[in-house]
Amino acid sequence: MHVLILGGTTEARRLAELLAAGTGLRVTTSLAGRVAAPRLPPGEVRVGGFGGAEGLAAWLREHEVDALIDATHPFAGTISFNAAKAAATAHVALLALRRPGWVPVAGDDWHEVHSLGDAAELLPTLGRRVFLTTGRMGLAAFAALEDLWFLVRAVDAPEGPHPPRMEVLLDRGPFTLAGERALLSRHGIDVVVTKDSGGTATAPKLTAAREAGLPVVVVRRPPVPDGVPVVAGSEQAVGWLAEQGAFPDAGRNLT
Ligand code: NAP
Repeated sequence: MHVLILGGTTEARRLAELLAAGTGLRVTTSLAGRVAAPRLPPGEVRVGGFGGAEGLAAWLREHEVDALIDATHPFAGTISFNAAKAAATAHVALLALRRPGWVPVAGDDWHEVHSLGDAAELLPTLGRRVFLTTGRMGLAAFAALEDLWFLVRAVDAPEGPHPPRMEVLLDRGPFTLAGERALLSRHGIDVVVTKDSGGTATAPKLTAAREAGLPVVVVRRPPVPDGVPVVAGSEQAVGWLAEQGAFPDAGRNLT
């Protein structure tokens, strides 16, 4: 069986690692190619777009893919939509692997919005010194906010339109609570902006913001395409593959 994992996340890499451990499956991970030096998973890796849903469907057929697992970031909405369309066209079983979203706890001052544009509209009412952790793409949404100062943290350097008053911090998680506390304090941050990425690697900023009594603007996720089954973890994705008949000589402990 040939499994294609649409990757770019910790969960995708973890799934490739689980499947590389003697399952006998052919596993290919696909990366968009956004990050200059990505952490590569085991198994085969291909890099770059497919050319829309049609291109992905053609790739699935050409490479005789039996199961497609969309383990992309919860905010990578286009590829997830393309995956749903392509899987239906090419008659390939599709699963979405999505880590659970974050949930506010007592003491949090969260302001939930549905887009970066809405976040930008809200920001001037909440603070002046912004810790922006929504990634290097989409900075244009904040470009008109001339009176606010931004600390932008991203894996690679941003390009294109961005806020005029901005400092860029190139870094990649996981981040520690002590580190996030120090960062907020050192830069005099008074408001944080994040996507609802979920997971533990970047969650300490939420705790640090809560402790400091800072408001957090949380951009909610786009929905998973209709009809696509969803699991929350890599181990459950292995279980789904088993249901698809991936391990005919089952009985071994795959997780
Ligand atoms: P997107 O808007 O959903 O996708 C834009 C285009 O990039 C897609 O139409 C597709 O091009 C290509 N693409 C995306 N993921 C791909 C993959 N895994 N393999 C091959 N091509 C892919 O995605 P995005 O938000 O730009 O994110 C790009 C990648 O970065 C994703 O794989 C995601 O897992 C990862 N990532 C995203 C975020 C985020 O906040 N958005 C955060 C961390 C990691 P074609 O139409 O030509 O096929």
